[in-house]
This record gives sequence, structure tokens and C-alpha cells, in this order.
Amino acid sequence: MIKNLPDGHQKTIQEHQENLPVNMGELSKAFGVTAYIAHLNDGVSGQIIKDGDESDKYAIFVSDSDSKNRQRFTAAHELSHFLLHKDEIGDGIVDSPLYRSSLSNQTEVEANKLAADILMPYEKINTEIDKGIKTISKLAEYFGVSTQAMKVRLGIPT
Ligand SMILES: [Zn+2]
Repeated sequence: MIKNLPDGHQKTIQEHQENLPVNMGELSKAFGVTAYIAHLNDGVSGQIIKDGDESDKYAIFVSDSDSKNRQRFTAAHELSHFLLHKDEIGDGIVDSPLYRSSLSNQTEVEANKLAADILMPYEKINTEIDKGIKTISKLAEYFGVSTQAMKVRLGIPT
């Protein structure tokens, strides 16, 4: 269960966790946010901005120079800003590769936490381990994340 999210949002996320890895393009779309892979400035891994003139439409951009797994985590991080920090998006949030932005570190930690909850639900991890996945790398591959991200999720020193 994901804390601090309305039930409807939780349900939408859970539906998109039925097929793994989570399809971040589809999940974003379910929340009315369009996700793009684009060429971003150096030192930028992702951003979320208002999409055109429509005041309630948002778009996520992830860097085309990052790996697929990294892009997926960045998209989940930016979508988390939309779900948790919509009031703070303003003219846009620009995240560095370390997921630092003009927002507070606490805000960034919250976005990273929700991103991990979206991509690596513990129930699903436990199911896969019970079904016989034995290595971190296989688990990471199944969830479409880096082995580093999976280790952090499992509390294993990296
Ligand atoms: Zn961020």
C-alpha cells in the first residue's frame, strides 16, 4: 500500500502494476500526463512542465541519453511530483541526475519513495521471490530497474 495517496490514485497505480515492468507512458497517460523521451540539457535527467496553454495539462520529459531503466525511474519520479507536489510545479520542475531540483530535499525524497513504490511494489517482489527468482539482477530485470535501485529497495548495502 502506498501512503498519502487518494484511493483512486492507488487503484490506478495498482492496475498498472499487474503487468511488469510498469509501463510509465501508460500510467502517466492514465493521470492525464504525457511522457516524452527527449534531448535534455546536460545535467538534467527529467522534468515536468505544464503542457501548452491548457492550465491543467502536464508533460514529463526524460533524457534520451539515459538508459531505459533510468528513464523509467525518472518518469516515475516526475509523475510522483505530479501526484504529491502538484501545487509546487509552478513553471516546471527540473531534476538533476541525482534528483535534485529547486524543491526541498524532503520533497525529492518523497518523490523517490513514491517512484520506488510505483516501480517495485513489495507484494510483487515477494511473489517473484516465492516463485523462485534468486538473484538481484533477475529481480531488477523483471521490474525494469537498475540492480542498484533494487538493492536500495531491498535494503541491501550497495
Ligand atoms: Zn524531483
